[in-house]
Amino acid sequence: MDFALTEDQAEIVKSAERFARERLAPDYMKREAEGSLDRALMREMGRLGLVAPDVPEALGGHGLDGLTAGLITEAIAHGDFNVSYVQLVNGLMGQLVARHAAPDIARHWLPRLVGGEVIIGIGLTEPRGGSDAANLTVRAEKSGNGWVLSGEKTSISFSDQMDAMILFARTGKPEAKARGVSAFFVPMDSKGIAKTRFRDLGTRPVGRGSVFFDGVKVPAENLMGEENKGFGQVMAGFDYSRALIGLQCLAAARASVDESWRYVKEREAFGSPLAQYQGVTFPLAEAETWIEAARLLCYKTLWLRDRKRPHTAEAAMCKWWAPKTAVDVIHQCLLTHGHFGYAMDLPHQQRLRDVIGLEIGDGTAQIMKLVIAREKIGAIAVQYA
Ligand SMILES: Cc1cc2nc3c(=O)[nH]c(=O)nc-3n(C[C@H](O)[C@H](O)[C@H](O)COP(=O)(O)OP(=O)(O)OC[C@H]3O[C@@H](n4cnc5c(N)ncnc54)[C@H](O)[C@@H]3O)c2cc1C
Repeated sequence: MDFALTEDQAEIVKSAERFARERLAPDYMKREAEGSLDRALMREMGRLGLVAPDVPEALGGHGLDGLTAGLITEAIAHGDFNVSYVQLVNGLMGQLVARHAAPDIARHWLPRLVGGEVIIGIGLTEPRGGSDAANLTVRAEKSGNGWVLSGEKTSISFSDQMDAMILFARTGKPEAKARGVSAFFVPMDSKGIAKTRFRDLGTRPVGRGSVFFDGVKVPAENLMGEENKGFGQVMAGFDYSRALIGLQCLAAARASVDESWRYVKEREAFGSPLAQYQGVTFPLAEAETWIEAARLLCYKTLWLRDRKRPHTAEAAMCKWWAPKTAVDVIHQCLLTHGHFGYAMDLPHQQRLRDVIGLEIGDGTAQIMKLVIAREKIGAIAVQYA
């Protein structure tokens, strides 16, 4: 077991940390008011090699491993949780496009994705529910030399900012459930697409909303992978994004804990710094422990993935435990700041609102626990399997 970073990892993490400290952290709260991501900032991250760095070199990427991508995501999220959605979403989509898109599509889009020039979103959830994801109704019908897409996706991150979407649509019979779902690459300037944006509790620079497909035509080569095999493809991808989400949320918690340690040394009560009261420092010491344990779990999950070893249960553990830990820790940090913590001027309230989104997005805690149970004892653990 070796916990040391390689020289290359240490170098790129240093660069990501510097970028997060100097370019992201100072405007984390200002960006919430702007309500969208600054494309120039994204391109800067692209130039520094901080977006989807694990896309293969032959397709315009840097060919790094998933663990390094996780370390970068963590560093960026420490400065601005919302900006790190670029690492999360483009990281996951980069892998799916590299593995399953037609070569022309991959060659056209991936260098721009890695360069921070475009956002590729994911369209899985539908109005009737996201947990039962295989039970989807958006349809793709064969027509001439292509496909026609119809229906509504909802709760989609970057709904009105993305440049393309990987859309999951039904190509088989409804009874076929997961085995009748295919994935399509859909440029968002295709005719027949309309978008909305929700009024959300947090993650406002990313935005979330519905995307409507009204007879949208895409060429045959925009089918990704094999017909009726799309669901399996995306689920394999989620094992990756679940570890990245864990690191994203823990980094936001880390930022609040760092600020809390500084605060308790300065603030005085009853004639002494707060730091001298163990009732104040013990919750922070506990937070340190939970963050460290949960991030090691995320690192291990990515390490297993890089070695092509099974990691579905570990990824689900990251996805339910790390966001919950982050929410609990940030809440504690807000309380540690007393009445100042409750004001909108400090970032803890924003971090709390932002991180709660990823307790739900990419699958809830209940669904993650079902995944873990299924991995341990098989289909008997999942009523609907
Ligand atoms: C911030 C954010 C970003 C998102 N981004 C995207 C995106 O980019 N693309 C996309 O496709 N989707 C996205 N989603 C949607 C997300 O994946 C779904 O919200 C999620 O899968 C849950 O689906 P649901 O909201 O329909 O809840 P439901 O499926 O309606 O579930 C409601 C509640 O019931 C529980 N529940 C459901 N079934 C079971 C069961 N069998 N056992 C126990 N409990 C159960 C759930 O855990 C949940 O608490 C995003 C959501 C959020 C909040």
